[in-house]
Amino acid sequence: MRIPAGWFAGMQRVGAECLWRGCGQPAGVDVILVVPGEPVPARVRIGSYCLGHAVITGIEMQAREGGHVWYVACSVGSRS
Ligand SMILES: [Zn+2]
Repeated sequence: MRIPAGWFAGMQRVGAECLWRGCGQPAGVDVILVVPGEPVPARVRIGSYCLGHAVITGIEMQAREGGHVWYVACSVGSRS
């Protein structure tokens, strides 16, 4: 599946910490579920997680919703 250039640009960060309950580690990865559709695929931002919880969350979401899971590295530390 082709992703248009800049598709993920402008998505707002939701938090600096992993959203997994009780985790508390710095979020390193945004989990985004991309579901095929027309005219453009739907994208659902799941949240920001540490790497381990991002993988768990992504696998669970893909099993439930289908589509493709994207893991996008957070730009930790940049506050432009
Ligand atoms: Zn975590």
